[in-house]
Amino acid sequence: MRILVTGGAGFIGSNFVRHLLDHYPSDDILVFDLLTYAGNLANLPSLPSTARLSFIHGDICDEQTVAQTMAGCDAVVHFAAETHVDRSLLNARDFMATNVQGTYILLEAARKHHIQRFLYISTDEVYGNACSPTGTSRPSQETDTLRPLSPYAASKAGADTLAFSYWASYGLPVIITRSSNNYGPYQYPEKQLPLFILNALEDRPLPIYGDGQHSRDWIHVYDHVAALSLLLHQSESNMDGEIFNVGAHQERTTLENATLVLKSLEKSPEQISFVQDRLGHVRRHAVDTTKISQQVGWQAKISFEEGIKQTIEWYQTHPEWIEGIQQKQNDFLDTALHLGE
Ligand code: NAD
Repeated sequence: MRILVTGGAGFIGSNFVRHLLDHYPSDDILVFDLLTYAGNLANLPSLPSTARLSFIHGDICDEQTVAQTMAGCDAVVHFAAETHVDRSLLNARDFMATNVQGTYILLEAARKHHIQRFLYISTDEVYGNACSPTGTSRPSQETDTLRPLSPYAASKAGADTLAFSYWASYGLPVIITRSSNNYGPYQYPEKQLPLFILNALEDRPLPIYGDGQHSRDWIHVYDHVAALSLLLHQSESNMDGEIFNVGAHQERTTLENATLVLKSLEKSPEQISFVQDRLGHVRRHAVDTTKISQQVGWQAKISFEEGIKQTIEWYQTHPEWIEGIQQKQNDFLDTALHLGE
């Protein structure tokens, strides 16, 4: 298969590309990425090292380039997005453009080029707080109502439902996944776990929103990309239009994560710094993964304890990668803390 991977220079996209290169020798991969602050060619294996991987620097909102790039591709895996909730609270414009309009442009091009599989990477953020229709807290199910609570989540919900409509209206073979919070190598350190790890290592404060009791289900990125590649290689038409939650059943609060990172690095708990709560902050995200487990036979394998240990080691042993992005991270940390004041 020739696979177009949008956002393939970002965190999950680049881990997905590595997974395909390692496990699917007959796949050719074309990464299409704008290289925003979150995209980084250093996330990918060096390009001349494999004839199976090529890169196009482009914007998914650029209709003409997207159409040219998609010609000759069999499948699209669409990761490209603005992804940080805090940034969406400061300015949602790019989120609407890339996440909604960009997805529309990709779906239209996919329809015209008769793409055989379009995998849209959505998020559990589209559900809002994990709860039953009566409001009782429980893991979200694929059939639950979408109640996004941030502009980021709303933009993802818009694209998620748009992708579904391209299956319902035009028969485009779409599959949608809604994953819980990812962690692992190559994650840009504006996100919680790499931010905590790097701040702990540099003896900086670990900012905790509100009371620190907001909880998320944490999935290692290797487990997530394994689920995605299984879904991508499902050619059965009865998979078209299906939505799958992807999660690891490992719920942890922000405060628990900060405490674990500090303890693992033998740092003082006094580095924890409570800041004013995030606007519209979701109390609990968790997903029910019965469907993907029963229909696809996938389940997460990496325990949080082992995954976080490996992730801390990865950040400790990749100083050149960190230096390459450090300045951007510091700039944003200042803004984020300012927002919390
Ligand atoms: P990321 O921010 O690390 O990477 C996003 C990538 O998209 C970057 O390489 C960036 O350069 C690229 N990009 C942004 N705008 C673009 C544009 N207009 N055209 C082309 N490329 C563009 O994000 P991530 O954490 O790897 O997330 C990937 C996808 O997975 C996103 O769609 C996100 O919503 C979804 N997701 C993420 C998580 C998570 O915990 N990180 C959880 C569930 C779902």
